[in-house]
Amino acid sequence: MADLSKRIVANLENSSWIRKLFDEGNRLKKEFGEDQVFDFSLGNPVVEPPKSFTEALREEVKKGGHGYIPNQGLVEARAKVAEFISSRFSGSFSSKHVVMTVGAGGALNVALRSILNEGEEVIVLAPYFAEYKAYIENNGGKVVSCPLTEKFEIDIEAVQKAITPKTKGLILNTPHNPTGTALTQENVNELGKLLKSCEKENSQSIYVLFDEPYSQLIYDEELADPFKAYHNIILASSFSKDLGIAGERLGYLVLDNNTPDVDLLTAAFVYCNRTLGFVNAPVLMQRAIASMDNLTVDASEYKKRRDLIVDILQEAGFDFMMPKGGFFVFPKSPIEDEVAFCQHAAEKYKILVVPSSGFGVKGYFRLSFSVSLDQIERSREAFIALYKDFA
Ligand code: PLP
Repeated sequence: MADLSKRIVANLENSSWIRKLFDEGNRLKKEFGEDQVFDFSLGNPVVEPPKSFTEALREEVKKGGHGYIPNQGLVEARAKVAEFISSRFSGSFSSKHVVMTVGAGGALNVALRSILNEGEEVIVLAPYFAEYKAYIENNGGKVVSCPLTEKFEIDIEAVQKAITPKTKGLILNTPHNPTGTALTQENVNELGKLLKSCEKENSQSIYVLFDEPYSQLIYDEELADPFKAYHNIILASSFSKDLGIAGERLGYLVLDNNTPDVDLLTAAFVYCNRTLGFVNAPVLMQRAIASMDNLTVDASEYKKRRDLIVDILQEAGFDFMMPKGGFFVFPKSPIEDEVAFCQHAAEKYKILVVPSSGFGVKGYFRLSFSVSLDQIERSREAFIALYKDFA
């Protein structure tokens, strides 16, 4: 019998419901045909990158050069990221404090590896992207789950209670997976105030890991700027969703030039990027983005999908917060047991959605509208009938 890590085996068992969901989806697709199943379970970007990306790639391929590059990444790619971040957030950014990574997932692992000592705590705001737990535990940290409010805003009092002398970081994600909501500047300012007071009163530096891979997919309002509110921020992001190249694995870590110990932190990121085995982020992708002017997909394509799914869910009667960015919506399950609800949706209507227990809360389900407009429109009657079953 294989003698595996107990932690990994336990995690495999805990995530077996996700496997079951995928198996069930595949079974339904095989039995009834792909177009007969309404699969809203995956957060895979459907909007293709702009033409300039394909053109840039073509040009870069012609040039050759596929060897190792510096672990921090190409200076021209880092400069492009610094420029991109400067156009979105306040602060002072330069190529010197940017590290190119293997996606946002790689960025978060590198950042957590760099800051955590064994047993130190990282606060995640629930519901949260399920992989955070694995990323924190990969790097010896302990997950402390702290609920968002009913409106999926940061609950400042709850965060205050969750902070202990062992707290090293807090992951902030906006626009948010899984709820699709976006934090307000006021709410982020309050968090900054709390963290600053911790630093003043307890001499405790808490890093905000600002995970923002959906920040170019924003529909109704301005994105909050955490750099206006706090100083110990590690920005972790990627071109996975913003540019629609999730499979190409290009992400980045960015520090404001005035972050305390900025050079040491950057050096730690570069070291961890290398020694976690990433070595360097994909070089062809770095060269491609460095030569492009526009690093964003056509977000209006996602907005169309958002508007259509919102219309359908409202017509059906579901209760949910309006998604402001990204490509998820997180309605309340009409019955307490959201797993049973999702099973019913799959079995009776071939609608595949993800139960919220996977994101650390009960009573909701996540639906990704990163699917074809045609699939969304065809699902209308099924959603209406599904809701009626519980009305
Ligand atoms: N953070 C959040 C909130 C995500 O939703 C995802 C991917 O779904 C990631 C990080 C990881 O992104 P990447 O594909 O760039 O590693």
